[in-house]
Amino acid sequence: MVDYIIVGQGLAGSTLALRMLEQGERFIVFDEPVSNRSSAIAAGLFNPITGKLMTRTWMADKIFPELHRFYTCAEKALGHRFFYPQPIYRPFLSVAEQNEWMWKSVDPALRDYVLEAFTQSKYGNQVYDPFGGIALRQCGYLDVVSFLHHVRGHLLSTQSFVAERFEETQLEIKSHGVLYKNIEAGKIIFCNGTALNQSTIIGGVPIRCLKGETLVIETEETMELIYNRGVYMVPMHEKNRYKVGATYESKLLAPEVTEAGGVELRQKLDELLKVPYRVISQDWGLRPTTPDRKPILGRHPVSENVIIFNGLGTKGVSLAPYFSSQLLDWLNGKIEMQPEVNINRFKSLFSKSTGLV
Ligand SMILES: Cc1cc2nc3c(=O)[nH]c(=O)nc-3n(C[C@H](O)[C@H](O)[C@H](O)COP(=O)(O)OP(=O)(O)OC[C@H]3O[C@@H](n4cnc5c(N)ncnc54)[C@H](O)[C@@H]3O)c2cc1C
Repeated sequence: MVDYIIVGQGLAGSTLALRMLEQGERFIVFDEPVSNRSSAIAAGLFNPITGKLMTRTWMADKIFPELHRFYTCAEKALGHRFFYPQPIYRPFLSVAEQNEWMWKSVDPALRDYVLEAFTQSKYGNQVYDPFGGIALRQCGYLDVVSFLHHVRGHLLSTQSFVAERFEETQLEIKSHGVLYKNIEAGKIIFCNGTALNQSTIIGGVPIRCLKGETLVIETEETMELIYNRGVYMVPMHEKNRYKVGATYESKLLAPEVTEAGGVELRQKLDELLKVPYRVISQDWGLRPTTPDRKPILGRHPVSENVIIFNGLGTKGVSLAPYFSSQLLDWLNGKIEMQPEVNINRFKSLFSKSTGLV
């Protein structure tokens, strides 16, 4: 008998499992890698100032301190390094943008995230930045593959992991809990990303796939910091290798890399990078996004024992630590769920798809 079955060990399942271990919950995680697992593809970037308009990302003041705290503690608990806070440099494209940032960098809403604004080329030896650029702080990247690998190792060592596909047809939902094969649990938590869309019992959750493609490149010299303009270049484990991304495609979702994706990324990279490079490989993944770009947490109407933690979209690295904590506190009756992320906001969809609610 366990308190929880967790389905999926991407960023959602991993952060939740670490929190459960910390709080002494009894749980078991099922994960079988599938080709579209979003977390394994992610460059792992976190950046509080995002979008074309470069605004402060939603809830940054709460989410960013928490992600720094969480991954630093996780490194200590797991005894490995995978969290790399470091500045991101974004070249300006024009004098107008440069002027705009001179104001923005002293704006109280943004100044905590601005390291320095440069009105002249600063990294012109590596990238095109004739108008200068902005160096942002509280940014960096998580080596997601390494993080997931070490979480999995830790879960295996605590007998809380099963490397096996979870077969929904074998799940029995009962009034007092759930039964899966011979495992009894109080609740089941689906952290299965875009795979939730294939479920025949957990309907109506509006997870929309947003395909992304990335390149792995090798450069002739080491980048001084993370560059991000049109595309990002995030360091990888091997010297002078970088993950370059990403594309955003909501319609053409074929499970493969595309020539168009590769061309788009190389074009954008050529506009940013001066240093010679060669492409090593190309990859793809599906991000689990939602109509309002906010995560989806809470009790599915099929049963009070079926819980959803999904919809991390394009920002799983920064959202997962904060919202895994919120989900667990809510499960333990300590807090109310924040309405903006509560699954109940999609009530009308459930009634259409399941006849429930
Ligand atoms: C190209 C690309 C680049 C990205 N870059 C970034 C970035 O730089 N920064 C950032 O914050 N985010 C980035 N993201 C988004 C990020 O990857 C997602 O927000 C996050 O990974 C979602 O995590 P998840 O745990 O919800 O889903 P997933 O990572 O998809 O995890 C779901 C897990 O469930 C498992 N699973 C599914 N069905 C079953 C089953 N039946 N049985 C057992 N296991 C099952 C899968 O194997 C998988 O491990 C990127 C995404 C893509 C595609």
